[in-house]
Amino acid sequence: MQVLILTACLAAAATDCAPRLLPAGIAPDPAACAARGDSVASGWIAAHPGLVARGWTCAPLSDAPALPVEEVAPGIHVHRGADEGLSPSNGGGIANLSFVVGTERVAVIDPGGSRAQGEGLFAAIRRVTPLPIGPVILTHMHPDHIAGAQVFAEAGAEIVGDARLPAALDARRDTWMDSIPAQIGAQAWLGTVLVAPTRLIDRPQSFDLGGRSLRLHPVPRAHTDSDLTVHDDLTGTLFTGDLVFRGLTPVVDGSLKGWLAWLAQPPRGAPVVPGHGPVAPGLAQAAADETLYLNALRDAVRAALDAGQGLSQAVPAIVAAMAPQRGTWAEFDATTARNAAAAYAEMEWD
Ligand SMILES: [Zn+2]
Repeated sequence: MQVLILTACLAAAATDCAPRLLPAGIAPDPAACAARGDSVASGWIAAHPGLVARGWTCAPLSDAPALPVEEVAPGIHVHRGADEGLSPSNGGGIANLSFVVGTERVAVIDPGGSRAQGEGLFAAIRRVTPLPIGPVILTHMHPDHIAGAQVFAEAGAEIVGDARLPAALDARRDTWMDSIPAQIGAQAWLGTVLVAPTRLIDRPQSFDLGGRSLRLHPVPRAHTDSDLTVHDDLTGTLFTGDLVFRGLTPVVDGSLKGWLAWLAQPPRGAPVVPGHGPVAPGLAQAAADETLYLNALRDAVRAALDAGQGLSQAVPAIVAAMAPQRGTWAEFDATTARNAAAAYAEMEWD
């Protein structure tokens, strides 16, 4: 199988270039790939304002860079993100990305933190199976999980997410399209478009992959207002998205109280693939540190409110009260300060 690799550059700074794998150019042999190269490349550039083409080539798919993955349960492959914040060195690759292979289809659970990561995941899937890809499930709105989705849309996959996700993305897309390349580098982000799901879920729903099915469960406002979990009926594996953080400090971008309520009545499933951090044998182990952190955050916010502190006094007081929770959490100070402000705003009128 051949793939079309386009060299795309920022029109504003033509030295910032990156190879982009275009799934629409996939062909069985070099001649067929070359025959459609011009039309696929020009169509893709036309759909990506701000980019210019610097030529294209056809190459065996086996030459395309693939993300490393590990099979953590039969047919379940996980790429482990770096357990840290966004940076130029990780290129946005901080979330765990997974795919699940059935007998008829392969599903993706979070397609990556950039176009480049999505392409690397696509190449990793094709090294394991030639089966059709889809659904591509977005566990929630955050770009470190979903920014690679357009690669799979171009490959013909159905993109599935919570019914609340498109509005959440619309409210933040412009901000993220500026802030993320500033954090990871324009080249690492080159060609990335934050696309919304084309199929929306507002109640539990199953997807048959052949020989196994995935059950999606929307979750009331918790880590964000667009969370869903995924359960594989064949192996029992539970994918929590960012409802479970390990290693990287939990980010409250929805409801602290809602998140604690979810943790108090967690779904069943094992092993657990968290949004960040290592795969765990069960939810109790996976969420133990996060539960301590979020309970301590709630208690510290409540203490600041009980003391009558305004927001500007409360945030440093909450951060100081959280110090015993520091442990080995990555990004602890910056994230805890943001969480303090978010939780204060949520609990202020209790
Ligand atoms: Zn998240």
